[in-house]
Amino acid sequence: MRVSVPTIITGLGAPKRTISPAAAVERIADFLAPGKVTLLTGAGVSVASGIRAYRGKDGRYMNPNYQLRSYLGYPPVRDTLPNTSHYAIAALQYASYIPRLVTQNVDGLHHKAIAHLWEPDHIQKQILELHGTLHRVHCKRGHVVPRNTFQNWLSASNPQWKVFVDNLEKTGQKPRTNPDGDVELEGVSYADFVVPECPQCTLESQQSSFVRGSVIAMLHNVEQSERVFVLGTTLATYSAFRLVKRALELRKPVMLLNVGPTRADGLSSSLVLRDVVRAILGSRASQDSAIVHLLQSGIHQPPAEDHEIISRNT
Ligand SMILES: [Zn+2]
Repeated sequence: MRVSVPTIITGLGAPKRTISPAAAVERIADFLAPGKVTLLTGAGVSVASGIRAYRGKDGRYMNPNYQLRSYLGYPPVRDTLPNTSHYAIAALQYASYIPRLVTQNVDGLHHKAIAHLWEPDHIQKQILELHGTLHRVHCKRGHVVPRNTFQNWLSASNPQWKVFVDNLEKTGQKPRTNPDGDVELEGVSYADFVVPECPQCTLESQQSSFVRGSVIAMLHNVEQSERVFVLGTTLATYSAFRLVKRALELRKPVMLLNVGPTRADGLSSSLVLRDVVRAILGSRASQDSAIVHLLQSGIHQPPAEDHEIISRNT
């Protein structure tokens, strides 16, 4: 685990310092304790849930092959579970220390971690998804369908790929899924993959195809908060970088906590976050049953180091 603390004053090139876990807990707790924090999370947070912190070099969002890769990658992401970091964060959300959470992740794991405590409408307001979500799909004219429904439409339109997916599940093969919820494919022809038109638009005699979730402006969130805590992201995407840049322009304190991709890094960062919650909440951490439960929840299953890449020659 690498911790850069406590404030970046002159841009993002500040030198990194390594400090002990106990010192890290103390500094992070001091930073978060006043509340009114915007938390920005990235792929590093989900590594312990088995999602690789990997992002392709290519312009993935523009990639015309996206829908097929997403079709194949959705089932494994749909089934992933929150890890200890998601639950520690949920404890701070529940205790009102983090009124705003912005995530770059599309896996929905922050939502899952607090779903038993908050109503869905409240969750939608409190957790903003910078890169959209895998759990809903919308057409170019704005009609929204649940991802599960869309997945079934894709299956119906592409029986040959449905067979491929079913075979993967039967043989226990897992395609290599990256944090965007799509998969890496080699030697594959995408030409035969059919993306259905939006049925609602068809009813209205319009044509409209489905696109991935839209990027939502989050700058307002940063402007409203007093400090920004950045967790598990290298700020490689411009939209995330822009949020931090805005916070710095407004001279708001920013703290970065990078969680590394290795097993050891993932484990220590999870434990650090739990300790941070205990340090901030004091006796409430052992007396509030909801908090106690959150601090006991979460898997720790980082992905295997080997990088299996599936291929289908057509
Ligand atoms: Zn439509």
